[in-house]
Amino acid sequence: MSDKEIQEVAHFLYLHKPWLVLTGAGISTESGIPDFRTPGKGLWEQYNHMEILSREVLTNKPEIFYKVGFRILWSFQKAQPNQAHFTLTEWEKRGWIVGVVTQNIDSLHTKAGSRQVMEIHGHLRSASCLRCHQVFPVERLVEKVEKGEIPPRCLCGGVMRPDVVLFGDMLPPCFEEAVVFAHRYPLLVVGSSLQVSPANFLPSYASRLVIVNLGETPFDRRAQWVLRGKASFILHLLHQEMLRLEAVKQ
Ligand code: NAD
Repeated sequence: MSDKEIQEVAHFLYLHKPWLVLTGAGISTESGIPDFRTPGKGLWEQYNHMEILSREVLTNKPEIFYKVGFRILWSFQKAQPNQAHFTLTEWEKRGWIVGVVTQNIDSLHTKAGSRQVMEIHGHLRSASCLRCHQVFPVERLVEKVEKGEIPPRCLCGGVMRPDVVLFGDMLPPCFEEAVVFAHRYPLLVVGSSLQVSPANFLPSYASRLVIVNLGETPFDRRAQWVLRGKASFILHLLHQEMLRLEAVKQ
C-alpha cells in the first residue's frame, strides 16, 4: 500500500462523504479479541463456532453453550476499543460517516463513543427470558451461570439467554435499518471477511464500496478500492490525509 494509494482513497472517501461503515471481527483483533477466520489464531480453530454458538445448542445442550460458547464470548467483556474504533468515532463527529453497522457483539464502538451503532448481531450487555421475554442486565445471567445454574432460569421458570444473535436466530430490527442506510450511502467495510449472511448482503446494495481488510473478501473485485492491512494503521493514515483535505478546503 503506497502513500499515493492512501491519498487517492482518502480523496475518494472525502469526495463522496458521508459513508456508512460496516465492521466485523477484524476491527477488534487489535483489542485482543480473536476473529473467526484469520488462520492460525487459536481459539476458533479449537472450536466449531456454529456448534457452540447456535440456537440449537442453547436449547438442547445448554451445558456446552454456557460452559464453552458463552464463556468465550464473556471473556470479550474486558476488551477496550483500539485506534480504529476511535477513528470511526471521530469521523462520525465530523459528519464524514453516518453510522456504523457492526457484526460485533463486543460493544467496542459504543465504548469508543460512537452514537449511531447498528449492532446487527446483538450485544453482551443484556439477557432475556425465552418464556416471558423480560430483559435483564447480563450480569444477572452470569451470576447464575457462575453458581452452576445451567441453564440459568428467570423467576417465571423460563431459560435466560444473552441478547446476542446465535446461528439459527433471526436478526434484530436494526438490520432493516442497516439495509435502508446501505441503499442510501456509500459503504466502507472494515475488518470483515464478508462471508457471513445476511450481513454480507449490504455491500451489494451500496453504490460505492471501499474495503479495508487484512485478508481477501468475495467483494474485492466489486469494490472501487481495497486496502489490505491492519485497520487501525490504515484508518489513521486515511484520517491524516482527510484532515489535510479539510484544511485545504477551508
Ligand atoms: P471474520 O472472522 O469472518 O473475518 C475477520 C476478517 O478481519 C478477516 O478477513 C481478517 O483478515 C480481517 N482482520 C483480522 N484482523 C484485522 C485487522 N487488524 N485489521 C483489518 N482486518 C483484520 O469476521 P466477520 O466477517 O465479522 O464475521 C464473523 C462473525 O463473527 C460475525 O458474525 C461476528 O458476529 C462474530 N465475531 C465477533 C467478534 C467480536 O464481537 N469482536 C469476534 C469473533 C467473531
